[in-house]
Amino acid sequence: MNKVFLMVMTLLFLFACSGNKKDAKRADKFNYNVEQFADLGILRYQVPNWDKLTLNQKKLVYSLSQAALNGRDILFDQNNRYNLAVRRLLEAVYENYSGDKNSEDYKSFLVYLKRVWFSNGIHHHYGEEKFLPGFSKEFFANAVKSLDSSLVPLREGQSVDAFLAEITPVIFDPKVYAKKVNQDSSLDVIAVSANNYYGEDVTQKEVEAFYNAMKKPNDGTPVPYGLNSRLVKKDGKLAEEVYKVGGLYSPAIEKIVYWLNEASKYAENDQQKKVIDLLIEYYKTGDLKKYDEYSIAWVRDTNSLVDFINGFTEVYGDALGIKGSWEALVNFKDLDSEALTKILGDNAQWFEDNAPVDPRFKKKEVKGISFKTITAATLAGDCYPATPIGINLPNSNWIRKDVGSKSVTITNITEAYDKAAAGSGFNEEFVCCSKEKKLMEKYGAQTDNLHTDLHECLGHASGQLMPGADKKSLKVYGSTIEEARADLFGLYYMGDPKMLELGLLKNPEAYKSEYYKYMMNGLLTQLSRIELGKDIEESHMRNRSLIARWALERGQKDKVVELKKEKGKTYVVVNDYVKLRGLFGQLLAEVQRITSEGDFDAAQNLVETYGVKVDPAIHKEIKERYDKLGIAPYKGFVNPVYSLENDANGNITDIKISYNEGYEEQMLRYSKEYSNLPTYND
Ligand code: ZN
Repeated sequence: MNKVFLMVMTLLFLFACSGNKKDAKRADKFNYNVEQFADLGILRYQVPNWDKLTLNQKKLVYSLSQAALNGRDILFDQNNRYNLAVRRLLEAVYENYSGDKNSEDYKSFLVYLKRVWFSNGIHHHYGEEKFLPGFSKEFFANAVKSLDSSLVPLREGQSVDAFLAEITPVIFDPKVYAKKVNQDSSLDVIAVSANNYYGEDVTQKEVEAFYNAMKKPNDGTPVPYGLNSRLVKKDGKLAEEVYKVGGLYSPAIEKIVYWLNEASKYAENDQQKKVIDLLIEYYKTGDLKKYDEYSIAWVRDTNSLVDFINGFTEVYGDALGIKGSWEALVNFKDLDSEALTKILGDNAQWFEDNAPVDPRFKKKEVKGISFKTITAATLAGDCYPATPIGINLPNSNWIRKDVGSKSVTITNITEAYDKAAAGSGFNEEFVCCSKEKKLMEKYGAQTDNLHTDLHECLGHASGQLMPGADKKSLKVYGSTIEEARADLFGLYYMGDPKMLELGLLKNPEAYKSEYYKYMMNGLLTQLSRIELGKDIEESHMRNRSLIARWALERGQKDKVVELKKEKGKTYVVVNDYVKLRGLFGQLLAEVQRITSEGDFDAAQNLVETYGVKVDPAIHKEIKERYDKLGIAPYKGFVNPVYSLENDANGNITDIKISYNEGYEEQMLRYSKEYSNLPTYND
């Protein structure tokens, strides 16, 4: 329901509610960029503070990671019934190919295989459309025929020729399984979607009728009907094949359960043990009531350092939003960030009292919002290799309302995006001046994170409404105004001496890095993510444009900020950072007033004037400059490798982490070690 995905590389300038701390010593030598192909970039992430975990916690992470990786085949099969066949076939060709590896066909073959790995199947992970190979059918047929037939994923009794006839259109024909999820409401969305959540002869009407019949009237605590099953027709009647031990995907789920049992032994406390044990029960029974119990226990487990997601979770993969795709994420609390958010929380009242807004709109008593920042340790299933940077679960509405939810941002993933972008030539292309370039190099990541933390912990929590005012009265402009309020709160305080006093920044110039980056992004670089001819739609982007363009205009006569053109390229130049801070303060006062009074007209005026429209000439220029950098628009990650160290008696003495595995290497290893399902699961 609430996944924050990063689709484009501009994360450096897109801090979508995330905060990541870093210490200088671990940042520099690490190689974040692994490789790039098609529209995909493969990155690597670090797991900071791994060595601060106790051996018990490391064993817990290790066991949960094994539980995570063992589900890999499930997602492939959920995405399309042929995905495991295609993957296994391509891997067999890859490992046995004896032809010319410099031929264009082979190179295209390699790209196609890498894309299948990345997408967990034959459809684009984000666009949902089937991507087509660049190699010829002849190359493909010859490569398959040259394999020993024991390596070809044949059905029982099937000949290689019959197999080829079956699989060739799956790979080559653009009309066959054209889209993984098709939302076109004029069509039967079940029939035209290529995923494997429903039998091939099941219609949308039948699915809707089947699940509507399950719903009980006036049920205040409904289970997520249909989440963990495939719906098929058996002898003309609809029936669910439940994903559970003894049911569909049993061989993989048995392995997951084995490792969850291991994890349970190392649970940090009773609540966490309860979470793991309930999940095991759910996997064994397939009972969705158990799943809800597990979800509730999971929400209540707030004290453990280590945490995880493992199961059929998000429903984006199903056009009707019923079936959960399998995903897993193992993580632990971001230890660096904890101390910092505590400092902010302890001083929340000071920030509120000293904000440059009308005293009537300030909270008398302010409490910082608690949100958790986490360090990812293993990504799997629908979180691998493409992964969200923030997650908010569970999806059950009544659990969210009655018990709550957990909202996390994954800081080491954000950091990896950040660092990988730093080597992309982006700053060299878009930052005007060497002074700013140096500041951004030195303080960019640190101030980016600090701004995010100020935004999250204090900005959203600040201020109060006037009696009778309602935030909803800002309607469609509400979320842009709210993001602007939180951003401005953060921007204003970034340049405050209090930052140095609290030890949050060490250098009085550091904040300029964030100011420059913010203005550059809001005025120029974020346009790279918008199609030519389109306006700005997304509310975080509208907010950034609003703030930057308002400050540009208001500071015009003092030349606080300027847009300068050099050799046909537009740059942002900030002449006076102190005055810029003053402008942020002024706009904060106005945006807080709009919020506190629910002033719709003023909100509309601000957003429509500064947040929506795009200068077409600048837009075109930015996109061209961006394209020349050749930065892949979508990113994914390889996982680190965890290895056990044993003493002479076979007892585990430590678990080491390493970051040396390449993308192909990792994918092939996973295909060997975690190949738990048969090729055909129908
Ligand atoms: Zn926000």
